Amino acid sequence: MSARGASGGLTATRARARMVERLREQGIRDERVLTAMGQIPRHQFVQEALASRAYEDTALPLGCQQTISQPFVVARMAELLGAGRELGKTLEIGTGCGYQAAVLSLVANEVYTVERIRSLLDTAKANLRPLRLPNVRMKYADGSVGLTEAAPFDSIIVAAASASVPRAWTDQLAVGGRLAMPLGGNAVQTLLLIERQASGALKETRYDAVRFVPLLTGIE
Ligand code: SAH
Repeated sequence: MSARGASGGLTATRARARMVERLREQGIRDERVLTAMGQIPRHQFVQEALASRAYEDTALPLGCQQTISQPFVVARMAELLGAGRELGKTLEIGTGCGYQAAVLSLVANEVYTVERIRSLLDTAKANLRPLRLPNVRMKYADGSVGLTEAAPFDSIIVAAASASVPRAWTDQLAVGGRLAMPLGGNAVQTLLLIERQASGALKETRYDAVRFVPLLTGIE
C-alpha cells in the first residue's frame, strides 16, 4: 500500500462519513449526492501535506494558484443541477484536481471535463486513474467556449468565476438543461442557476454567495 493509501484507510473513511454528516447539517438533502461524496476519497486529490485536512469544509490549494472546491459547494452545485431530474450528459468547466469530476461521475451518465492548465489536467488524470470511472472524459481546452464537439449538455457546472455568462454555455444547454456557475468578479460571487425551458427561454435563479478562482481564457 502506498504511503497515501496507508494514511487513508479507516481514518479517511471516518473523516469522510463525518464530512457527509456535516453536509446534511448544512442542508444538503440529495441522497445521490451525499452517497457520492461519501464514496470519493477526497484525500487522494489534495497534495500529501494537506491530506489530513481533506475532509474539512474548506477550499484547499492545488498548485498553479488554483483551489479544490469546498465540499459544501461541490454538493450544493450538484444538488441544484439534479433537483427533480437526472444530471444526464454533464460538462464541467475547470477540472482542477479532478475531485468534482469524480463526484459527478457517480451522479451523472457522462461527464466531460475541460481544464486550461496542462499540468493540472495531468494531475487530475493521475488522481482519477485508480478510481476507474469509465464515464469521465477529460480535455485540455479553454472551457470559456464550452465544448462544442460534445454539446448539447443536460448539465453544465462551472468551477471558476465569470463576471458574465458566456453565450457559448447557454447555447450548449439542452432543452430542460441546467447550468450552475459562480457569477461575479474576484472577491465574492453569487451561485447562479440557469435553466433552458421548453420554450427555449432561459430562467435564472440566484443562490448562495460563493468564492471561486477566476475564469481565464486561453490555455497554458
Ligand atoms: N472542480 C475543481 C476545482 C478547480 S478550481 C476541483 O474539484 O478541484 C477551477 C479550475 O478552473 C482551475 O483549475 C482553473 O485552471 C480552471 N479554469 C479557469 N478558467 C478556465 C477555462 N477557461 N477553461 C477551463 N478551465 C478553466
